[in-house]
Amino acid sequence: MKEYVKLWEASLTRDGSYDDRFILGVRTTGIYCKPSCPARRPLRKNVEFYSTAAQAERAGLRPCLRCKPLDNEGLLARRIREACAYMQSNMDEKITLKILADRAGISPHHFQRTFKAAMGVSPKQYGRALRLQQLRPNLKAAKDVTRAVFESGYGSSSQVYQDSGLSLGMTPSEYRAHGRGKTISYACLQSPFGLLMLGATDRGLCFVQFGPSHAGLLTQLREEYSDASIQPMRDPAPPEFRCWIDALNAHLAGSRRHLDLPLDVRHTGFRMQVWLYLQTIPYGEVRSYSEVAAALGKPKAARAVAGACARNAVALAIPCHRVIRGSGQLGGYRWGLERKRALLERERAST
Ligand SMILES: [Zn+2]
Repeated sequence: MKEYVKLWEASLTRDGSYDDRFILGVRTTGIYCKPSCPARRPLRKNVEFYSTAAQAERAGLRPCLRCKPLDNEGLLARRIREACAYMQSNMDEKITLKILADRAGISPHHFQRTFKAAMGVSPKQYGRALRLQQLRPNLKAAKDVTRAVFESGYGSSSQVYQDSGLSLGMTPSEYRAHGRGKTISYACLQSPFGLLMLGATDRGLCFVQFGPSHAGLLTQLREEYSDASIQPMRDPAPPEFRCWIDALNAHLAGSRRHLDLPLDVRHTGFRMQVWLYLQTIPYGEVRSYSEVAAALGKPKAARAVAGACARNAVALAIPCHRVIRGSGQLGGYRWGLERKRALLERERAST
């Protein structure tokens, strides 16, 4: 958090020594800038930080005409950004690492490493993330997940659930092995709804849970991923992680409705389908367990839906608090009914 404040201070003071360290994105104008940009600063809540221009572009932002954040961009950074743009406009093609490396004029090995350093994911994972991003808006609109999957050009829904391992990283067998081979970094934050612990792999959040104490949460994290290597988040935390914390804070404060954070959780089959579906329930709305089951084409599976909610490891990002009983009673909540009630009330008050 402290480091995050530092980035905002550097933007306010237009500190040019930060120009090669991060990019300032402005949601309201859709523009991204160097920290030293002379333009007037927007409100803090409209700002996002990115570690590279390519990430800002991925978020749909355009370079500022005033500070021209791309002018002094290093050659490699430009090639990575161009590769991202190329993948985005050729999503129907099969783009191999070799094609990308040839276009950039460097060896596949070097390209892979440079890309990963800049983007946090491999080119292949990036391609999958692009496809899922295309899928998500459809998921939001369509009630029927299976139909959305087909409309998004996936041949079969099992393919998409494999690909949604995308953000997700762990293969089913790895998941069963409780995160073996994974490194998970964690940090706590004090939220209006209690202490919250965030755990993340290099691919996204795998743990967002409320708990009474730091020690208790750490035990919970170790139980959930008993074979992973678990360590405190380094200081300063990477910009992505700071962005996620910021997004969660804004979300809990009611100023950011939609949480679209990269997740590194996955499961095979029905449980994963439930989790994906939960992400399509709009802020401020609720569904009943049987409505979710019916929407997934399994009207008799309400209990299984409740089971999937109870096993959710990422509170808020997979909004299992928006599923209640058909009678209007709250049902259960992994992190306590009082908290579920409070979260739903906050959402209703903010809509
Ligand atoms: Zn600018």
